[in-house]
Amino acid sequence: MAQLIDGRQVAKAALLALRPRIQALKRPPGIAVVRVGEDPASRVYVERKTARAERLGFWHEHVHLELDASQAQLEAEIDRLNADPKIDGILVQLPLPSGLDGTAILDRIDPSKDVDGFHPENIGRLAQGRPQFVPCTPAGVMRLLSHSGIKVEGKRAVVVGRSNIVGRPMAMLLEAANATVTVAHSRTTDLPSLLRAADIVVAAVGRPEFLKGDWLSEGAVVIDVGINRLADGRLVGDVDFESAVQRVAAITPVPGGVGPMTIAMLMENTVKAAELRP
Ligand code: NAP
Repeated sequence: MAQLIDGRQVAKAALLALRPRIQALKRPPGIAVVRVGEDPASRVYVERKTARAERLGFWHEHVHLELDASQAQLEAEIDRLNADPKIDGILVQLPLPSGLDGTAILDRIDPSKDVDGFHPENIGRLAQGRPQFVPCTPAGVMRLLSHSGIKVEGKRAVVVGRSNIVGRPMAMLLEAANATVTVAHSRTTDLPSLLRAADIVVAAVGRPEFLKGDWLSEGAVVIDVGINRLADGRLVGDVDFESAVQRVAAITPVPGGVGPMTIAMLMENTVKAAELRP
């Protein structure tokens, strides 16, 4: 039976470590969360982020635009938040409704307030090995590994998924930590044999219970980034937990694995942004 990697515990430790840093600031860190439309999952995520910010004593602002908001309206909000000295971090809850150009919106955020780490300047810095703001989910995965005493250097890692927000930065971080990294995606052939050779597997596919236990090696550490809601209401990851937990060395549960880490890293990035602000 695999060791369970408890994201709630690790996130709690990360948030606790922020307290003295917040107290040392001249003013509370400020975060703005921008949401457009009525996607129920986005609403829940935004509520969780603002509730956590509130508990940490942040200044926080929730900007909610109607579904029919125009690109110009959204850009005007970003410009306003970029100029607001109370705001250290801006995040735009994705996905945006169709019709809005999400890339143009993310590019418009001041890179020094880009606490999601999605701006090309921050991704470029990460690619060059001089990170400033690192995307929260992959940063959370690295923290889970280090906090659990899992060595990355010299290991064979497979990241399944190559999105800009998870898979791609995840691969960069693992490589920076001296793993030998393979990135798999929808055109990869024979994924099971790639996975069986991996010491560390990160699943960021967006398909419920997609990776099966017998695709994984017995010594593998499996990090399941996926969050999928099934028709019966259950929340599951991208890994078939029941078959994988019997086989591998360590695994993150869903929920309670990577999810809490994403929010903790967002808070950490916002505190860092506040510390860096002149
Ligand atoms: P995404 O943008 O849809 O990307 C999915 C990736 O999976 C793509 O690169 C795609 O390949 C690849 N893929 C699709 N089918 C595949 C297959 N059959 N075999 C191998 N690769 C395949 O998703 P995302 O935004 O990265 O999110 C991934 C998952 O993580 C979702 O479940 C999401 O809800 C979850 N998530 C969780 C958190 C958290 O805090 N825990 C945060 C963000 C996302 P192509 O590039 O070839 O299309």
